[in-house]
Amino acid sequence: MLEAQDIGGGTSTTSTKLVHGGVRYLESAVKNFRYADWKLVREALRERAWMLQSHPQLAKPLPIVVPVRTSWERLYYGVGLKLYELLSPSSYKLGPTHWLASKALYSFFPAAKAGFRGGWQYWDGQFEDRLYAVHLALFLRQRYGVEVRTYARVTAMRLVKGHVRVEVETPLGLRYEEEGDWLVNATGPWSDRVRRLIRPEAPARLRLSRGSHLVVPRSALPIQAGFLIPRTEDGRLLFVLPWKDETVLVGTTEVEEGQPTWKVPVSEEEEAYLRAYVAQYFEVEEPLPVQARFAGYRPLVRAGRGPSARLARSHVVEVWPQLRTVKPPRGQMDHLPSHGGRHCPGYSFGFGAAFAGWRSSREHCTGLVGARGVMPGLSPACGAGRIVLRGRGTVLAAVRMGPLPPRCGGRAVAAASD
Ligand SMILES: Cc1cc2nc3c(=O)[nH]c(=O)nc-3n(C[C@H](O)[C@H](O)[C@H](O)COP(=O)(O)OP(=O)(O)OC[C@H]3O[C@@H](n4cnc5c(N)ncnc54)[C@H](O)[C@@H]3O)c2cc1C
Repeated sequence: MLEAQDIGGGTSTTSTKLVHGGVRYLESAVKNFRYADWKLVREALRERAWMLQSHPQLAKPLPIVVPVRTSWERLYYGVGLKLYELLSPSSYKLGPTHWLASKALYSFFPAAKAGFRGGWQYWDGQFEDRLYAVHLALFLRQRYGVEVRTYARVTAMRLVKGHVRVEVETPLGLRYEEEGDWLVNATGPWSDRVRRLIRPEAPARLRLSRGSHLVVPRSALPIQAGFLIPRTEDGRLLFVLPWKDETVLVGTTEVEEGQPTWKVPVSEEEEAYLRAYVAQYFEVEEPLPVQARFAGYRPLVRAGRGPSARLARSHVVEVWPQLRTVKPPRGQMDHLPSHGGRHCPGYSFGFGAAFAGWRSSREHCTGLVGARGVMPGLSPACGAGRIVLRGRGTVLAAVRMGPLPPRCGGRAVAAASD
């Protein structure tokens, strides 16, 4: 496993750190009759249950409150959040969605502005994203002997005598090569860039949206539970969440970006935007003391031109079984020949998805590779056993760590249609 930065150096440690089904996607599923969103929420809720149960030291349940000012809001959010509760797996419910009268609301959020009639309290989870990523890497190494190499950036790739050869660069400029049978590109926001190392003309599959967070001392913004601002002017949700014992996370923004950079800045406008929403909902000292800020790119799968906030967060797996020596016409991908178990080097790419959905997207990816019959020993079916990929010199692995939900979600884009 080759990682350009430290473990979790990319988007995975700049998230809101929620293990959630995504109340926003549920709203979109209902309003727009979008089955994909519906499936996404159900699957994410199953993954939420799995993460909270299997890693209680890294993920814990978190009560979140949606404040309400009018009767219409009370009805609207009440119905939605009850539905959210109903959709979570019956084998692992976190707790009921229930109404908090205004006294209870103000005891949870003593600095909240006056005028709230109460709020709906529902449940999601929160996790230690960096520790979780390190834990996964250690698990792969200890259990499966996977060699995890950090500060090893892939800068070029080609097929040589039936193998995938990659060039790797260290921060000191040292370059060396590694070889494998199959390459899995799981570089999140950098996926398009890595795809173009193989095919410079490949059309972009991602839209990147930068999301920023502020870290504020809890003494300046006292909260006892998560607080969800249900609608911003650009149609987003904004979270104010307890983080560790003494801080609060405020986020996030959604600013579309062209290309990912390694150090992701939080712009002055984004900080002002987050501060303005805090001031709209809470009586806080001005200026709000901000201890830290961080930002990351959401790797969203392209679908038309609308605002990135409306793009679904489901994942896509793309398989390129072979790099042709003759370039395919512009915009056209290889067709998948049947290889009948013969050795055939290739690449696969996983995009999108939330951190909390890592298991199903990675399994989907390795499952598809296995289904091509190109790597004997690789399970073709999602969720069917443990999967370990070993190449020559390099080891690429995907692992199942516990009982799986019955189905894997996401969309397979195996051939055609870019
Ligand atoms: C603001 C924000 C809030 C979010 N909130 C949540 C949330 O609350 N819950 C949730 O589940 N998800 C959330 N997400 C989504 C989630 O964080 C991401 O979808 C997920 O972490 C992506 O994981 P990844 O492994 O695909 O990408 P990354 O974590 O970015 O990993 C890709 C890795 O590839 C490496 N890399 C890139 N190029 C190369 C190369 N050439 N050679 C070697 N290595 C390379 C990078 O260094 C990086 O570490 C949020 C995302 C954002 C931006």
